[in-house]
Amino acid sequence: MSGQPRLVLATHNQGKLRELRELLRGQVPGLDVDTQVVDAAAAGAPDVVEDGVTFAENSLLKARAVAEATGLVAVADDSGLSVDVLGGAPGIFSARWSGRHGDDAANLQLLLAQLSDVPDSHRGAAFICAAALAVPGDNGSAREVVEYGQLEGILLRAPRGEGGFGYDPILQPSGMDRSCAELSAEEKNAISHRGHAFRALLPAIVDALR
Ligand code: IMP
Repeated sequence: MSGQPRLVLATHNQGKLRELRELLRGQVPGLDVDTQVVDAAAAGAPDVVEDGVTFAENSLLKARAVAEATGLVAVADDSGLSVDVLGGAPGIFSARWSGRHGDDAANLQLLLAQLSDVPDSHRGAAFICAAALAVPGDNGSAREVVEYGQLEGILLRAPRGEGGFGYDPILQPSGMDRSCAELSAEEKNAISHRGHAFRALLPAIVDALR
């Protein structure tokens, strides 16, 4: 069965949309994930200014704004890299650590330079993701849920691998001998911070769509 959109993912990233659709496939009776789970553009939702100071705040800002604008159940995520010796930075500044938003290569090179004297024993880091759900209610109210996921590892001394994006070439997940950029999309999704956060949020999403 296909039909009107029922769930909006507040993103323009088609990889994230695919991930959420696969997670939801077969979970909600009558929900056609391919046509009824859509991205922000397909739902006509506006871009949202992410001016929160935590991953949770930013994910909620996006989910809430999209739910308000569309009247539909909305999901959003916010993520970044948290480095132990930097007290959790770059954190919410991960996408613009070098000063230019989205310059992955410059962000990664700056971080490597900052950590050049840090020994392997202190190069722990994790990708962190907050995933938020906003369910529109009566009189503009919304029911909101946030869940987290993380992917722990150590930071390499030089980039490795061609896949992925962002800091993938320098994060080696715990217990693995490859960087995230050397994993297939399936391998990365199975252990990723976003995968964990979306899976934790799944019961609340399913409940909201019943
Ligand atoms: P966003 O929340 O998906 O917009 O990610 C924010 C920033 O965090 C990205 O620009 C990357 O720098 C970093 N980041 C988040 N998730 C990942 C990941 O899975 N791999 C590499 N970098 C990531």
